[in-house]
Amino acid sequence: MTTVAAYAAPAAKAPLERTTIERRAVGEFDVLIDIKFAGICHSDIHQAREGWGEAIFPMVPGHEIAGVVSEVGPGVTGFAVGDRVGVGCMVDSCRECDNCKDGLEQYCAKRPTWTYNAVGKDGEPTYGGYSEKIVVDENYVVRIPDGLSLDVAAPLLCAGITTYSPLRHWNTGPGKKVAVVGFGGLGHMGVKIAHALGAEVTVLSQSLRKQDDGLRLGADHYHATSDPTTFEKLAGTFDLILNTVSAPLDFPAFLSLLRTNGAMVNVGLPEEPVQIPLSGLFGNRRNLTSSNIGGIRETQEMLDFCAEHGIGAEIELIGADQINEAYERVVASDVRYRFVIDAATI
Ligand SMILES: [Zn+2]
Ligand SMILES: [Zn+2]
Repeated sequence: MTTVAAYAAPAAKAPLERTTIERRAVGEFDVLIDIKFAGICHSDIHQAREGWGEAIFPMVPGHEIAGVVSEVGPGVTGFAVGDRVGVGCMVDSCRECDNCKDGLEQYCAKRPTWTYNAVGKDGEPTYGGYSEKIVVDENYVVRIPDGLSLDVAAPLLCAGITTYSPLRHWNTGPGKKVAVVGFGGLGHMGVKIAHALGAEVTVLSQSLRKQDDGLRLGADHYHATSDPTTFEKLAGTFDLILNTVSAPLDFPAFLSLLRTNGAMVNVGLPEEPVQIPLSGLFGNRRNLTSSNIGGIRETQEMLDFCAEHGIGAEIELIGADQINEAYERVVASDVRYRFVIDAATI
């Protein structure tokens, strides 16, 4: 075991503070990663504050991890010391169910082992990326292509794959009209990726405050949802609506923007149940669905795609002593567009 520095929430809603945690010894199929950067995802905050239910404390959040391999176990075949690698939301799964066999480990029938706020197969709690090092089975590690800087690559491990997977699943490409609801950490990645896939991209944001950024990062159109004429003008327009907002929305209003057979995919998870009249689905045989991150193989595909298209996240790099302040700013939607922790400051 190795003792490493980390930032942890000692209890629900408590500020994060510097501490130390134990990482397991490098096993036969394990990779030891020196973490260079860790993104701050809104779901870190939902979990550290128990917004999604009871959680495990102390909690070291962080599932947008970019770093460099510093040791490999004797059975490791895919990685070598010095490789640039990433770890996302999962560090293990059952590997035997149909979903695991199909590369859909995120939907593992026995639930994946999440990178933090979970218990691993060894019975020990998992700790995430706000730390100096992490030990992960090589099957749950991905390669970060040379063309991507590690700091802007880190958020791709959650925000990138969370948007890439549904965009691909719903066949985003040339001739398709895609709306991205919300223009934050997830939304700005959705815009970049949908644009690179060749779709006509519209941002639907509460205000036009970030319009210049939206158009610069790949959106063709940008509309304010606070303006009721937006919903009149865009009725029946979109093949796909990617909803990145984790607060309840006026679902019938957004569903009315779908064309026949269109889909609204939710990737933000509100803390409270939402009420949706099903009548909103009937008009155009509309689909209301969801998507949860992506599998390991698809995460690698996403990183390769992003490198090929020069796509990284827009980030604000912070020191670890700014994590608590950053949390407040994420909750207030005051970040352009992802906070990334410089792990050298932990
Ligand atoms: Zn996340
Ligand atoms: Zn499984």
